[in-house]
Amino acid sequence: MNNNYRAADDSIRISSALLAGADLLDNEYMKGLGHCLYCPSPANSMEHVLPAAFGEFAGAPNLENRVCDECNNKRLGVLDEQLARCGPEGFFRKWYGIQGRAHHDKVNPFYRGSAGGRRQEFSAWDPVWGVEVNLEVENGHARQLRELIFVESSGKTHHLPIREDTTAPGIQRPWSSQAF
Ligand SMILES: [Zn+2]
Repeated sequence: MNNNYRAADDSIRISSALLAGADLLDNEYMKGLGHCLYCPSPANSMEHVLPAAFGEFAGAPNLENRVCDECNNKRLGVLDEQLARCGPEGFFRKWYGIQGRAHHDKVNPFYRGSAGGRRQEFSAWDPVWGVEVNLEVENGHARQLRELIFVESSGKTHHLPIREDTTAPGIQRPWSSQAF
């Protein structure tokens, strides 16, 4: 087994320490199970141990015929989606400009959450406006998020990201229901 796995763009190196359990995949008992690792259904799909959302990793092992289609696509898929878009992994995925697979929805995690996870929130103080503004990152650069900022007389702020698909009623709805 190689000691290093490289992302397709060579910008990220992942130590094989992350794959310390990979030898388990070659275990004869594991190969002979015949049913899904998570449920009694027949194992009939291929699961990436390192989510494909993080790139292609030469030599990385896959779970071939050890997980059923339903667990792979519905249960593990939701976990992969949240991992890839929410939290630090989602932040650095945007920072390094890692693209999702062609057949997946294009989601900017700074504008909306995914798979039950919240959107990325990354803010800085704007000395000109005198309020905190949200930022988004992409390809190693940060810029101010496209958003409406409402400031109450108490100084409390409300941030409403303006997504590509935002409409006037879409802005009015959360404001009138105080849902943000
Ligand atoms: Zn299953």
